[in-house]
Amino acid sequence: MNTLLKGKKIVLMGVVNKASIAWGCALALQNCGATIVYTYQNDRVKKQLDKLITEEDITVQCDVSSDAEIEQAFNEIHEKVGNIDGVVHSIAFARKEELEGELTEASREGYGIAQDVSAFSFIAVCREARKIMNEGGSISTMTYVGSSRAVNNYNVMGLAKASLESAVRYLAVDLAKQDIRVNAVSAGAIKTLASSGIKGFRNLLDEAIERTPSGKQVTTEEVGKAVAFLMSDLSTGLTGDVIYVDKGTHLS
Ligand code: NAD
Repeated sequence: MNTLLKGKKIVLMGVVNKASIAWGCALALQNCGATIVYTYQNDRVKKQLDKLITEEDITVQCDVSSDAEIEQAFNEIHEKVGNIDGVVHSIAFARKEELEGELTEASREGYGIAQDVSAFSFIAVCREARKIMNEGGSISTMTYVGSSRAVNNYNVMGLAKASLESAVRYLAVDLAKQDIRVNAVSAGAIKTLASSGIKGFRNLLDEAIERTPSGKQVTTEEVGKAVAFLMSDLSTGLTGDVIYVDKGTHLS
């Protein structure tokens, strides 16, 4: 346990189970002394989240496909804890049928859903979060190298991640007016509920491990530690950036 984030209130969006990258973030944020506010998509996710946290932990519902729900969630967060210092957005969704085959087979609707939940939601979250954020705050999101490379079956999600990374740059400029930093962590491939929806994910994982210089797979805890750094005052010099936390898989 250290005091890197002592006194900081951080909203963590996207824990569904122990395998979630956001849960790795929760462990790292806790270990640095932060107060965490967990948001969850719906009652079904809340039941899963409850298995990991205690009754004292603060939770707020937030389905990011609804602007009204995002607004309501940040109002509720403000009522519960006052102003906040950070937000971690670890959320994405695409229909299973969009995560296989060729991009030419993508449907207009499926493309729209992936963009809406995985990229636009970050913009909407920043819009509401900035209203209740302290100066010097930090916001981060989770991306993947499929934004800039054609990864088998990743398809519409690759386009959504490209859009998300671009949003990070624009939002970094907008929120700098309030001295709030906006960054993304590009995590290596990890088996989670969301990634299991990608066809042939096991092969993708094996190939990633093969390309990784150490031959070791990055863990959710390691991603979480980078997020803790981004939430902390150690990273005041970084904004609008994408940091790779993938053990170097993206190098080759
Ligand atoms: P996960 O399934 O554990 O988490 C995804 C979360 O998104 C869940 O908590 C789910 O409830 C939430 N979510 C989906 N739709 C939502 C909505 N409408 N409203 C609110 N929440 C919603 O999977 P994960 O792999 O930990 O994913 C977290 C993030 O990390 C995603 O952005 C994902 O693209 C990114 N990422 C994952 C990998 C990987 O290999 N697992 C690699 C790089 C980046």
